[in-house]
Amino acid sequence: KLESKKVLITGGAGFIGSHVVRLFVNKYPNYQIFNLDALTYAGNLENIKDIEEAPNYYFLKADITNAKSIKHLFKKYQFGSVIHLAAESHVDRSITNPGIFVDTNITGTLNLMQAALETWQGDFKDKLFYHISTDEVYGTLGETGLFTETTAYAPNSPYAASKAASDHFVRAYGETYNLPYIISNCSNNYGPNQFPEKLIPLFIHNIIKNRNLPVYGDGRYTRDWLYVLDHAKAIDLLFHKGINKSTYNIGGFNEWQNIDLVKLLCSVMDEKLNRSEGKSEKLITFIKDRPGHDKRYAIDATKINKELGWKPSVIFKEGLKKTVDWYLNNQEWLGNVTSGSYKNYYKNQYAE
Ligand code: NAD
Repeated sequence: KLESKKVLITGGAGFIGSHVVRLFVNKYPNYQIFNLDALTYAGNLENIKDIEEAPNYYFLKADITNAKSIKHLFKKYQFGSVIHLAAESHVDRSITNPGIFVDTNITGTLNLMQAALETWQGDFKDKLFYHISTDEVYGTLGETGLFTETTAYAPNSPYAASKAASDHFVRAYGETYNLPYIISNCSNNYGPNQFPEKLIPLFIHNIIKNRNLPVYGDGRYTRDWLYVLDHAKAIDLLFHKGINKSTYNIGGFNEWQNIDLVKLLCSVMDEKLNRSEGKSEKLITFIKDRPGHDKRYAIDATKINKELGWKPSVIFKEGLKKTVDWYLNNQEWLGNVTSGSYKNYYKNQYAE
């Protein structure tokens, strides 16, 4: 019954999770939406302030690495399904501190599945464990070709390896214990509320502050970009209509070399800040490459398009403008998250 649908969303105070939580809370008033988050440096309840009073929304502060606490919460609230986004998500941090990626991304996922199995006790009717993953599990592409759902996993960074391992565990729980699951692997997201260590918000912040724009290597790395709300809509669709024990790729059909993306962003920023054309571009500086850096990711999202009719709705330049507007209108948010420990992180990362 819809009325009794209790959905646990993990990582709902983070970037993508906050958009998913908002969409579910507003679109499904008959569901009870539980947002479980440990509020690490990347989690911020400000991201979902507008829905915190909604009658169908509950926040649970908990750490998915703590098996006991996760079991306790499943027992207490009897969640019927899980959308699992909580993770350590930043590749650069995984290079300096891989251990926490194993704890959160692998052990944390295991703890959730274990608690789900124990709570559901073999009754899997209307139950689902939906695991959110990344295209980085596939490794890197050459000049041509696309990642499909059958591309072999070949993760190159500790972050990608931890997500790949968690995907394998989800699949194995499906095969071994019959846990109903869906996995989706999505390309790079951008949009409001993204923590400013990631490329687009980092550069927006640096342009506002007139700071250098550190571009890795020769800037020719290629990524596919998707507006975060389009990802949230794909998650909604897969949650309700995806086939049990299936994997889906989600992407924007929108490949950009980093340097071209940065130049486009610079021109949008010049326009928004009423600066003379070309001013922001002067801030671009090339820095030493990240080790194990994947040359190109590109997603073939044909399956979700053909089976469920999903396609991205936001044109990149429009999405970028919306994103820039959001950061310019929310400089207090930006100021709060870039104070404190972020400053040390930035200093260590870019040695300014
Ligand atoms: P994020 O870093 O912005 O948010 C992660 C959230 O998880 C934060 O709110 C954080 O507090 C929470 N969290 C971290 N460790 C936790 C723990 N031990 N227990 C409970 N909560 C914890 O990440 P994001 O960019 O929103 O990514 C969300 C998910 O989507 C991740 O699983 C990521 O791998 C995946 N993904 C991200 C992208 C992208 O471009 N950002 C693309 C594809 C897939």
